[in-house]
Amino acid sequence: MVECDFANILFAGPCNRRCPYCIGRLLPERVNVSNLDAFPLAGLDPFIAEVNRRGIRQLVFTGTVTDPQLYRHEARLLALLRERVSTGPRISLHTNGALALEKLDVFDQYDRACISFPSFEPSTYEKHMGSRQVPPLAEILRRARIPVKVSCVVNEHNLPELPEFLERCRAIGVRRLVLRRLYGETRAWEIPSVLERRGEYRGNPVYALGEMEVTWWDFAAAQSTSINLFADGTVGTSYLLARTPELSNTAA
Ligand code: SF4
Repeated sequence: MVECDFANILFAGPCNRRCPYCIGRLLPERVNVSNLDAFPLAGLDPFIAEVNRRGIRQLVFTGTVTDPQLYRHEARLLALLRERVSTGPRISLHTNGALALEKLDVFDQYDRACISFPSFEPSTYEKHMGSRQVPPLAEILRRARIPVKVSCVVNEHNLPELPEFLERCRAIGVRRLVLRRLYGETRAWEIPSVLERRGEYRGNPVYALGEMEVTWWDFAAAQSTSINLFADGTVGTSYLLARTPELSNTAA
């Protein structure tokens, strides 16, 4: 039996952001058909059986082309997973944060959350997320009762702001920040000199700025494994979604 770090539940449907690098664009259309109204989700039973069989303890609500907080049955699915997954799972939410305050009661039902947040500046945020509406990160951190990690895609648009971005994250109380290179990105970004090297996590370097831990994450270098429940019910076995063998008979 192959060991697995994560089991991801992937939502699809219209999103409240329009990121030009949305991962769903690299996937076959059939896995991007909306499951935002579906309960139970297609393929949920075999997925749970696989999670239990492999003993996976980390479950993640995430999306191929939409935000998991747009799913209409978020709380119901969380309750079902806590009842039927026998590994005592830790359930995480990966979100753009747009609905975090509006749905704070459900947000707090996860064990932890990760918010994709590339910039505090509306014009830069728009280049990444296709919207000028920057979620109120400081308020989310202040009001959430669960640990919140911040994930920032770094590209040419926000690279010049990085030193200031790091400082602002630290100042509002971010404890864990992940700086991510996009899948397929080959340019090498310079690590800001304010960051002190602390170690390594799954093949990626880890730094610190005060009490904030900063990981420099490169999907290609990452040594993680996952199974993934796609919206059409396919259970995929590649951590890199675009390289899922179970989808390889369908053109992207
Ligand atoms: S927020 Fe996520 S799902 Fe929505 S468009 Fe951006 S990358 Fe895609």
